Amino acid sequence: MPGSLRPAVRYHVESMNIPLLDVCRQNLPVETALEAAFRRVLRSGQFILGKEVEEFEQTAAAAARARFAVGASSGTDAILMALMALGIGPGDEVICPAFTFFATAGCVARVGARPVFADSCPACFNIEAGGIERLITPRTKAIIPVHLFGQPAELDPILALARRTGVAVIEDAAQAFGAEYHGRPVGARGEFGIVSFFPSKNLGALGDAGLLLTNDAALAEKARQLRNHGMHPKYFHAMIGGNFRLDALQAAFLNVKAPHLAEYTRKRQEHASLYNGAFTRLRGGEAVDIVPPEIHPDRTHISNQYTLRVRPGKRWAGAGNPRDALKRFLQERGVASEVYYPVPLHRQECFAAFGPYPPLLVAEALAAEALSLPVFPELAPEEQAAVIEAVCAFAALA
Ligand SMILES: *Cc1c(COP(=O)(O)O)cnc(C)c1O
Repeated sequence: MPGSLRPAVRYHVESMNIPLLDVCRQNLPVETALEAAFRRVLRSGQFILGKEVEEFEQTAAAAARARFAVGASSGTDAILMALMALGIGPGDEVICPAFTFFATAGCVARVGARPVFADSCPACFNIEAGGIERLITPRTKAIIPVHLFGQPAELDPILALARRTGVAVIEDAAQAFGAEYHGRPVGARGEFGIVSFFPSKNLGALGDAGLLLTNDAALAEKARQLRNHGMHPKYFHAMIGGNFRLDALQAAFLNVKAPHLAEYTRKRQEHASLYNGAFTRLRGGEAVDIVPPEIHPDRTHISNQYTLRVRPGKRWAGAGNPRDALKRFLQERGVASEVYYPVPLHRQECFAAFGPYPPLLVAEALAAEALSLPVFPELAPEEQAAVIEAVCAFAALA
């Protein structure tokens, strides 16, 4: 019972402070190159779009094997631009998972459409592909599968369903830039894919930045115009866009960091596989059932997050939720962890007006059970050992 154990054992990990993410450990080794990038942009006097942005767009399009990449102010704005470019608005419905980051559905509501929430797969946390078809109505305009935590969603059946029903697909690859499904990078399979370079993503900028991917020349052109107030030619507006432009400075920083992405991701994957090896034996524990994340063999997982399910075992005797108990237990030992995401989107107050939504049992269970551990590339071996030791100690003592 975690409540009674708290003072029982003192671990050496208590002297450590292990963060969930330390961006400095990644950025300071390339400090000189980042400073040079800053000077390049400063002296160019070109701060909005321009050469650095175009260079980054080309690098990103090649990496995702997409014909077109359009740099954007953030991943969120990229979702918004994709919905706007597809002409989605009031009266329309867009299907997305309930267990994801808010932006996925927030953008749907911002264009005036109704988010329709699908349940998730308990093993991989992604949208349950088999449950989408019955949510399709004559008003459905798009499906947004999210490649959650860095593992691709089950794209083939989703794309097949979308083609058959005439619905667009926007891949939310915010957390999955570089992940592959059936040997191909995600993000360029549907009408659009979006990527985020928020500092916590595998490729993180030094601020906000995002990207739209597409293979459709007309959609790419529309997205470019929407990014700049729908303006074409200058001061003529056939459509209403916004300011969704990527800063030259962020693009210059991303040009410095992009060549390191494969290495960053490889280290994350090594950490994830070490965790998986260490935690497999905690599965089905009597007091607490700790379930490591499953990776489908037909796709790669870039481990943007390493997320366990922490469930009460048959003899769980602690007060309350074992996931929250583990989080507290780790906190007391200086190990940071985070709950992504505690409230599924169909239960968010701001979407109540679009409801009522039926219960989504897996999404609700995941919101109560998911706990993400430090998996950032620069996590030191002794730090990871301490995280493992602390999780195992919790399981043994619970
Ligand atoms: C990070 C994230 C976004 C939004 O990206 P920003 O660049 O932070 O706006 C959208 N969807 C998911 C799943 C994300 O993780």
